[in-house]
Amino acid sequence: MNKRRILGLGLAAMMIFGTVGCSSSEGDDKSSDGGASGDLPKIGATVYKADDNFISSVRRELETNAKGVAELTVDDSQNDQAKQLDQIDTMIAKGAKVLAINLVDPKAATTVIEKAKSAELPVVFFNKEPDEAAMKSYDKAYYVGTISKESGVIQGEVITEQWNANKEKWDKNGDGKIQYVMIKGEPGHPDAEARTKYSIETINEAGIETEELAVDTGMWDAAKATEKMDAWLAKFGDKIEFVICNNDGMASGAIASLEKEGYFSGDKFMPVVGVDAIPEIITLIEKDKMAGTVLNDAVNQGKAVIDLSLNLANGKEPTEGTDWKLEGKAVRVPYVGITKSNLDQAK
Ligand code: BGC
Ligand code: CA
Repeated sequence: MNKRRILGLGLAAMMIFGTVGCSSSEGDDKSSDGGASGDLPKIGATVYKADDNFISSVRRELETNAKGVAELTVDDSQNDQAKQLDQIDTMIAKGAKVLAINLVDPKAATTVIEKAKSAELPVVFFNKEPDEAAMKSYDKAYYVGTISKESGVIQGEVITEQWNANKEKWDKNGDGKIQYVMIKGEPGHPDAEARTKYSIETINEAGIETEELAVDTGMWDAAKATEKMDAWLAKFGDKIEFVICNNDGMASGAIASLEKEGYFSGDKFMPVVGVDAIPEIITLIEKDKMAGTVLNDAVNQGKAVIDLSLNLANGKEPTEGTDWKLEGKAVRVPYVGITKSNLDQAK
């Protein structure tokens, strides 16, 4: 039942976006130049934290797509909103024609918009969606990302499908309910909030009852997730029947903790799900160490950021000459549910 939806979405994504060529990429530590300088339009970009797993993939795509068409600089804001605002001032002073901003704090959108407005520059936010009021306050503000809710719903579908296929084994206390722990991303991040809510709602709507043993933030971070999981395993042990993570980085951190406790060898197993489909997780799904994930399409998000930024820098309509469709002021790239049965799509 769910497989159809999962595959259908994948197909739809392929039809909408066509194939995306992959080329080599390069990058350095602090900022990078995405193309030969000269007369190319300057795109001033920031990432909220360069060592975030998913964001590092988006950054690579920004650099790949800017090559030869724009002079791109990508600053690492190191999870510091004040630092990011300084970086934006510097970009503007250095003649950026457009800003491409991955906010540290989604609430800082209004401040960034004020800066863009007074410099008369368009701004393309990505990954962390500003609220609607902020987006409406400036006609030259756009967003590239996803529909946050969709990742929660699809993750819930993946969990439902996997649970129904394995519940004889996975329902350890035989009560028909899923006793789960939830490792959340950054509180207040639209993706974290929506994934936490809609994953569970979707499972419940499919007729499976759930019981939350614990929920806490791992701040999108693998090491923090390992710490959480260590503590929860000590407290709940085998009462835990499912580990639900807002992203794959944290799922891999949880798996590291579970491995220390002897899971994934012999009969000892724990279903774990995440979101993103980072390469490391694809390998784990392949080896049956992970139940599934949801592809968060860094390739197309990175491409859309550059396509829109370049058009805006050149005074064109944001999606002119591209396949992107604006919904309001946003380009939204679909998520795709990934289990062992459709791993090729994630690859
Ligand atoms: C990704 C996370 C990432 C976060 C950063 C989310 O969309 O799924 O892996 O840490 O964005 O803002
Ligand atoms: Ca149970």
